Formats: sequence, structure tokens, C-alpha cells
Amino acid sequence: MDCLFCKIINGEIPSSKVYESENVLAFKDINPMAPVHILIIPKKHTDGANTLDESNVGVISEIMLTARKLAEENGLEDGWRLVTNVGEHGGQTVKHLHFHLLGGKKLNTELA
Ligand code: AMP
Ligand code: ZN
Repeated sequence: MDCLFCKIINGEIPSSKVYESENVLAFKDINPMAPVHILIIPKKHTDGANTLDESNVGVISEIMLTARKLAEENGLEDGWRLVTNVGEHGGQTVKHLHFHLLGGKKLNTELA
């Protein structure tokens, strides 16, 4: 499948990996919007939050816990944000479900 993040998962495209498990990969965003900007993704391809179903429930839980752990490891005790963009209006550019973990500064509170 011609998917950028699937290519990162299979090693075809390099990334700055920060965490990996059987079902989840986390790597640094190539264009960081905050001092800490990590992408957390399921290894099994699904287009985005709009294509989730019951089969994805386990990995979504693991992604949440991974976010908490990475926030802790990166010293984000003052707070952080976990975001997933969906579709054109949501600003999704890569059609493989991903969560942005952002922190390390006071984040913009204007969400939309
Ligand atoms: P979104 O706009 O929510 O689809 O986010 C896609 C994110 O992927 C953006 O923040 C990009 O900077 C990031 N990105 C694109 N290509 C790469 C890459 N090769 N390695 C790491 N992050 C990437
Ligand atoms: Zn993919």
C-alpha cells in the first residue's frame, strides 16, 4: 500500500523512533510544532479516526497509555496535548491514523 506511515513502519522510510511495541510505533514529527512533537500510530493501517471499529479498541487504549508514558519520559509534567486530525476539514494530510503528542511549551489554547 502506498502509505507514508506504513513505509515508516516497515523501515522503507527512516524515522526518529522513540517507542515501539508489537502494535504501536512512536516517532518524532519531521516538522515539530512544539519542543516535544511525537506521532503515535497503530502498526495496522487504518485511514483515520473515521475508519475505527471494534477491532481497533485495544490499540487505541495502548496509544493513550503510550502518550502518558512518553509525556512522562519527556518531562511534560506541566501539561501536554494529544490530537488526531480527521479528513480535509480536520487538516489530516497523512491517511494513516496518528496522534500528535505535543508539549514542552504553553500550547495555543485556540483549538479551532
Ligand atoms: P496530519 O496533518 O495530522 O495528517 O499530520 C501529519 C504529520 O506528519 C505532520 O505533522 C507532518 O509534519 C508529519 N510527517 C510527514 N512526513 C513525516 C515523516 N517522514 N516523518 C515524520 N513525520 C512526518
Ligand atoms: Zn498506513
